Amino acid sequence: LVINAGSSSLKYQLIDMENESLLAKGLCERIGIDGRLTHKPQNGKPVYEADVPFPTHKEAIEAVLEKLTSKEYGVVETMAEIGAVGHRVLHGGIEFTESCVVDDACEAAIKKCFPLGPLHNPANLMGIKACQAAMPGVPQVAVFDTSFGMSMTPEAYIYAIPYEYYENDSIRRYGFHGTSHRFVSARACEIMGKKGTRVINCHLGNGSSVSASIDGKCVDTSMGLTPLEGLPMGTRSGNLDPAILQFIMNKYGYTADEMLNILNKKSGVLGISGVGSDFRDLEKAAKEGNERAQLALDKFAYEVRKYIGSYAAAMGGVDIITFTAGVGENGPDMRESICEGLGFLGVHVDHEKNQVRGKETDISAADSTVKVYVIPTNEELMIARDTLALVTK
Ligand code: AMP
Repeated sequence: LVINAGSSSLKYQLIDMENESLLAKGLCERIGIDGRLTHKPQNGKPVYEADVPFPTHKEAIEAVLEKLTSKEYGVVETMAEIGAVGHRVLHGGIEFTESCVVDDACEAAIKKCFPLGPLHNPANLMGIKACQAAMPGVPQVAVFDTSFGMSMTPEAYIYAIPYEYYENDSIRRYGFHGTSHRFVSARACEIMGKKGTRVINCHLGNGSSVSASIDGKCVDTSMGLTPLEGLPMGTRSGNLDPAILQFIMNKYGYTADEMLNILNKKSGVLGISGVGSDFRDLEKAAKEGNERAQLALDKFAYEVRKYIGSYAAAMGGVDIITFTAGVGENGPDMRESICEGLGFLGVHVDHEKNQVRGKETDISAADSTVKVYVIPTNEELMIARDTLALVTK
């Protein structure tokens, strides 16, 4: 069972690890408010969607377990068939270079990272606690979004601010979307089938980040201490001159929290275009002649292209560029526009092959010396694989 717990929501998937097939997935929403459960069995049984009271995460987990084992909507006979639970945890700080079985030390470390992931880590821990209570004795595994970035070398992760902030406050670059980057870059290495494979993975969705890795080990990645750094995103600004904060705060009298809210929620392609954060809406508006929507798309492609160039420089070249997540998997125009101008690196995309959506495909042109692929990400499966590996160790 794979759990992704947010502060008021909880997503789940039950995966049969005999053949890595999805048995059921679903979503608990409005936890602590009122509660709604959507449960989607994958065995032909009907979808269940209804208001269910969820005062806390525990009631949500209990409802999920009841549905997974029920006659009408179930996919397993009994709870005993659920052998382990893997939890997505946002921030593992420097403590966690890989996933781990949850014990007291692991829980304490997740707590220690609350200041680094204030919106996510407390919710992730709540999900763990709820499963422990509802499924006593079933091993729980924590899979950290940040562990992929732990192989970055100091010159990649250190910020050029007084060193004491790193020493005293753990302020450094961590990177996020790590589970997705790990999944896709491992698959890219498998495709290339040679030692020393240099991968640049573009995880482009509502949140976006790029990673550089060699043999699946992260060399650099675009998000930082928080998921605000790096590319412009749906609503996040990505990189900017830090002095802009002071300028805007002074002029408009904003507090630091208000300023951060603007950078997290009102910026990115939404901020530039004024149209929205969804790339489909932007593409539609741009086609209808909206210049700011076009500018937002151009800015996004330009910044992804720059990351690809800089990561090729960081690794002394690149063997395969991969596109994943909502836009990466489903946006042929965006992929083509990003790769335009990367011919100097030997990157050429085949226009016809690139028309694919959501399916693993080699989209490189015959004369491309760098492979270009669409590889659908599957964070839940990565979490399930880690979980299985740890509980059968
Ligand atoms: P994610 O955060 O990975 O779920 O990605 C969400 C983003 O993917 C949204 O901006 C969607 O507009 C975008 N997306 C999903 N499907 C498509 C599509 N067919 N064409 C372009 N963008 C898409």
